[in-house]
Amino acid sequence: MTPPGTLLPVLLSSDVIQARVAELATAISSDYREQDLTLVGILKGSVIFLADLLRQLTIPVTVDFLAITSYQGSGSQKGAVRLVKDLDEEITDRSLLIVEDIVDTGLTLGYLVRTLAARGPASVRICTLLDRPQRRIVPLPLAYRGFEITDDFVVGYGLDYRQYYRQLPAIYLFSPD
Ligand code: 5GP
Repeated sequence: MTPPGTLLPVLLSSDVIQARVAELATAISSDYREQDLTLVGILKGSVIFLADLLRQLTIPVTVDFLAITSYQGSGSQKGAVRLVKDLDEEITDRSLLIVEDIVDTGLTLGYLVRTLAARGPASVRICTLLDRPQRRIVPLPLAYRGFEITDDFVVGYGLDYRQYYRQLPAIYLFSPD
């Protein structure tokens, strides 16, 4: 069976990604050493990044996940986001670090930061592997960012096209055909 679309050249190799993840983990381990840290993974795209980042952290940390759907339509629902799986644990007084695969328009994370901040955590910050600032609609402070990329669509290392390609260890440019 052939998955949809065509892989184009590698944008970020596995070695380059792993080296950057280690740098991010060092910074996070230092910044959060006095805090009750919870990583909040956004399903499903962030799971590979989160798993690698988590294993490089040297401080106590808990992990939780949530899942969202975004409406791709037009009109008043455009950009709307709905929670389809909530966190399992209470987050009051915990320091939350949202772990995301890519911040594009910022609509998804803008909604999530507002939703989580309303529950009384000690803090809510963002760690994203990829950042595409030129498409941003909702301005967001990104506490940790792996790489800035341009407008080209990418897959691999958790990022999908129609649910395929998540298992690739590198990040590839991609054509949907
Ligand atoms: P935002 O709400 O910031 O516009 O969208 C972020 C979400 O869009 C990401 O979590 C990801 O699911 C999806 N996305 C944005 N750009 C890409 C891309 O280049 N490749 C893939 N696979 N997903 C993307």
